[in-house]
Amino acid sequence: MVHGAIAMSGAANQHGTQSGPVIVGAGAGIVSGLPAKFVVTIDGQAATGKSSTGLRLAQRLGASFLDTGAMYRDATALALERRVPIDDAQAIIRLVQAERTEGMQWVRSPGNGYAGLLQSPEFVERLRSAAVDAAVSVVAKHKALRELLIDWQRRAAVDHGRLVTEGRDQGSVVFKTSALCKFFLVASPQVRAQRRAEQLTARGVLADVGAIEANLVSRDQIDASHAMRFDEDMIEVNTTKLTEDQVVDHLVTLVRQAAADRASE
Ligand code: C5P
Repeated sequence: MVHGAIAMSGAANQHGTQSGPVIVGAGAGIVSGLPAKFVVTIDGQAATGKSSTGLRLAQRLGASFLDTGAMYRDATALALERRVPIDDAQAIIRLVQAERTEGMQWVRSPGNGYAGLLQSPEFVERLRSAAVDAAVSVVAKHKALRELLIDWQRRAAVDHGRLVTEGRDQGSVVFKTSALCKFFLVASPQVRAQRRAEQLTARGVLADVGAIEANLVSRDQIDASHAMRFDEDMIEVNTTKLTEDQVVDHLVTLVRQAAADRASE
């Protein structure tokens, strides 16, 4: 199914950032009428809110949620912690295979109350360090590592039936032909850096907005050179002027529409 690219740019309040477990508000129950199995992909630039909106979208759709950025961040953190050179792809793969059992640890599902590795604040802190930010896009360039993690990502979709998955290549490569809906999030670098700084400050971490913006732009450039791609059949959503609630509501509406279109095919 092909969607036209839609840029959503209505005036709105300051973006609402989210940290910690997300509770779906009263009245925002699980959307009905969706297929028993589907994949929704959310790709896009760094710090556009893919993880926070993705988890909330999954909850609204009664789907599991996979944060593939966390998988690459974890591989990077493991390499840095064990002093494995970040250019040694085979050593990093051996480390990941020894420490992690397939993709299951990464999936947050209705069945486990959306808990999982990423529920632990210490674990998230470890993945979000400045050292990991600086090295992750280099580690993510290793083709063999990508093949391993992509295999785990595809298995997660088979195991879970309904899956919302976020990353850089989920709609363009991993679930290119099978996804029900493919989103691509963008936002201005200034707003993204500001949001990331607010998240860090809320966790008590000192934040340098300029340094954060430089890292985001540099990661975007590396990611766009090998993994991140906007395809014509994706729906672009510009979150610069939107609150998180607005983004989630918009994505829910588009998924419902896509499900209705598929049912009538
Ligand atoms: O989304 P997040 O910022 O956590 O991703 C961290 C990094 O992991 C990205 O900058 C990118 O280099 C890499 N990544 C990737 N492919 C994905 C997800 C993330 O290359 N599917």
